[in-house]
Amino acid sequence: MGLLDKKFNSGGVIITKVDDLINWARLSSMFPMTFGIACCAIEFMTTGTSVYDMDRLGMAPRASPRQSDVMIVAGTVTFKMADRIRRLYEQMSEPRYVISMGSCSNCGGPYWEHGYHVVKGVDRIIPVDVYVPGCPPRPEALIGGFLKLQEKIRSESLMAPKALERLMKKQEA
Ligand code: SF4
Repeated sequence: MGLLDKKFNSGGVIITKVDDLINWARLSSMFPMTFGIACCAIEFMTTGTSVYDMDRLGMAPRASPRQSDVMIVAGTVTFKMADRIRRLYEQMSEPRYVISMGSCSNCGGPYWEHGYHVVKGVDRIIPVDVYVPGCPPRPEALIGGFLKLQEKIRSESLMAPKALERLMKKQEA
């Protein structure tokens, strides 16, 4: 069911579920962290240009993890960077999401076999919500990843007792 479960034309009154309302607001205003670690980041930047205009999906990049709720891991995850990536993830506000962009981040990519310095998938250090394939993925593919993430958020329930409890614990920590 969409946001407008029931609409009354007179008086501008709508009836909907709290979850649907909150999710609609969340998925329409996401804040990806400006963060790139290799060549895939160039395509991430291109997605923000006027040609692709990711802002129209409500994606407004932020320079700080404290103000971000989406991490786009765009590039090769080296062992040297792994700790930094995890720390940035931990500094993001809840609920937070991760898009793994490109083969390197998904599974090690071209470094899969001989890259002794590369983590074979960022999901070995942080949880991933959406994987975008490609080397590098084009901006259209990353936009597809945004849409997948929005689909996922649309079906979540922040009002469920377990989700609320988890959020409260994170806030207290
Ligand atoms: S997936 Fe390809 S384009 Fe992306 S960071 Fe790895 S080597 Fe570069």
